[in-house]
Amino acid sequence: MKTNNSGFFQQSHQPFVIIAGPCSIENEKQIDQIQKVLLEENISLMRGGIYKMRTCPDSFQGLGKEAIDLIQNLKKKRSLKFVSEVTDPRQIETLFSVVDIFQVGTRNMFNYELLKELGKYSKPVLLKRAFSARVKEWLLAAEYVIQGGNNKIILCERGIRTFETGTRNTLDLSGALLAQRESTFPVMVDPSHGTGEASLVMPMAFAVAAAGLDGLLLEIHPEPYKALSDGSQSLNFSQFKQMMKQLKKILYVIGKPIGNEFTYEDSFNEPATTGNKADIQLHSS
Ligand code: PEP
Ligand code: MN
Repeated sequence: MKTNNSGFFQQSHQPFVIIAGPCSIENEKQIDQIQKVLLEENISLMRGGIYKMRTCPDSFQGLGKEAIDLIQNLKKKRSLKFVSEVTDPRQIETLFSVVDIFQVGTRNMFNYELLKELGKYSKPVLLKRAFSARVKEWLLAAEYVIQGGNNKIILCERGIRTFETGTRNTLDLSGALLAQRESTFPVMVDPSHGTGEASLVMPMAFAVAAAGLDGLLLEIHPEPYKALSDGSQSLNFSQFKQMMKQLKKILYVIGKPIGNEFTYEDSFNEPATTGNKADIQLHSS
C-alpha cells in the first residue's frame, strides 16, 4: 500500500497470493490430501517444513531428505509450486531441486550469511520478520539478499514478541503496512504463527485482506490434533474452505484479485528496494 498526497490508501499493484500447507511435512498421505484441497481452491503454492527450527531440541525437527523425496514424487504427479524454509546455507543445493520459494524463518532473519547466499540465486525469498525485529531491520535484512543480486523478495509478518502472553505472538499488521509503504516488496502475513490459535487465524486473515496487504501464509492440516508440529494453530480442511469463501468476498470488495505469483521488476537498473537504505523514514528510538 502506498499513500497518495492526501495520505489516503493506495492499492498495491500485487495480486493477493495464498500459500498454505502443513507446518511440517509428515508423510505422503498428508501432503497428497493437502495439495488436493489447494487445487480445489486454485492455489498452486504449497508450504511445508522440511528442516524445522524448533525452540526445544527434543521437538520434531522435520523429515529432512525423506521430505524432499516426498515432494519430488508429488511434483511428478501434479503441478505444484513449493515453499520451504532453509535454515542453513549448506541446505540450499539439496533444497534447490524441490523448492520454488525459499523461506527464511523468524529465527534466521538476522543470519546475514544465509541472506547473502540466497542473494546468489534467482528464486524468490520469503523473508519472515524476526520476532524481535523493527520494521527497519527487517527491510535492511532484505537488502542483504538484493545486494547479492536477487531482487525477488516477499516480506512476511508473522508476529512479534510483546508483553502479551495470551496469544503466541502479537500480529503486527500496522508494521506490515509500514513495510509495504516503505518498500516495493509484496508483504504477506502469517496469522498461524502470528496468533498461535486456529480460532484466531480466520478473523486475522480477513483483516489482512481488508487492509490491502498482499497475501497469506497459512498452516493447514487434515487432522490438526495429530500434527507433529503447530497443530493448535493449523486450520482443518473445512475451516480452510470456509475461510476461503469469506476471503474472496472481502477481496472482491477491495478490488484485489487472487493470484499465484507476485510480479517483480526485471531490470536490475531499477531493483525493487527500500530506496535509500541509510535513510528509511520510520519512527525509531
Ligand atoms: C514456519 O513457517 O513453520 C515457521 C517455523 O515460522 P517462523 O519462522 O515464523 O516461526
Ligand atoms: Mn509452524
